[in-house]
Amino acid sequence: MGASAEVTIREVALRDGLQSEKMFVPTDQKRSLIRSLSQAGVEFMETTSFVSPKAIPQLRDAAELMAQVERGQMKHEVMVPNEKGARAALEAGADRLIVFVSASEAHNQANVRRSVAASLADLDAIFSLAREKDVPVAGAIAVAFGCPFQGRVPRTDVLEIARHFADLGADRISLADTTGLANPGQISDYVSFFTGQLPDTAFCLHLHNNRGVAMANLYAGYLAGITLFDTSLGGIGGCPNVPQAAGNLATEDVVFMFEEMGVATGLDLCRLIDAAKELEKMLDHPLPGQVMKSGPSGWHTTGAACGAA
Ligand code: ZN
Repeated sequence: MGASAEVTIREVALRDGLQSEKMFVPTDQKRSLIRSLSQAGVEFMETTSFVSPKAIPQLRDAAELMAQVERGQMKHEVMVPNEKGARAALEAGADRLIVFVSASEAHNQANVRRSVAASLADLDAIFSLAREKDVPVAGAIAVAFGCPFQGRVPRTDVLEIARHFADLGADRISLADTTGLANPGQISDYVSFFTGQLPDTAFCLHLHNNRGVAMANLYAGYLAGITLFDTSLGGIGGCPNVPQAAGNLATEDVVFMFEEMGVATGLDLCRLIDAAKELEKMLDHPLPGQVMKSGPSGWHTTGAACGAA
């Protein structure tokens, strides 16, 4: 394994991002944002989550949104917390289900109020429902690199969950640094360990920036052979159950870095910047993304690297 000449960026602003915002973004605005992201070339989108509207009211329009989104090259992936959510997501035409379990007992309790074992047991039904409809399922492992309640999470604990996902037929496994506790050395070590143990499994990195280390972690993951990364437009998001959670890496910042390195992302940076500004207007507060403020390279010299501004 080595660093690849191309990577895939998976957009999570609509789910991971919006669920951390105080306001409910109206469905038609979400649709408009999805259209902008599609025009920027985004193919993999975590569009929403079929969770209890009481738990996450920001995503209470999941079914409505899924009924209205454009179906083209964009794959609408949907997070589901349980069998009920999986049924609803499949009915709504989800292109892939995302199931999740925390690598630590304490975080799983805080997140879904049950044990890791109970969460894992519920997965059988979800995978068989999806299989019936021929819809792939990806597994996400929260706090895979450290837990704010428990501390260090041994990589063997994470591997056990990853193996469980793989045995059930997950076509991809996301390793999430839900609280921004990872460091580049650890990412490198864990990624090599997991890809060595499960060589036929595709891995994705989902990195939060609570401590400012996420971009370095992403780069370490890239050097260790990862080619799929979750990012969020404008850098919005975090985790509602983690104290002072900060956002995800901004999609446009990550695209800037890779494209400047000559690594293809397939995404249009200028259109992403426009979409991030559209999102900022919707949310009515400054977003943490950097490239949306500083512009792409050449912006200051030509003043017009993005369109005719
Ligand atoms: Zn996240």
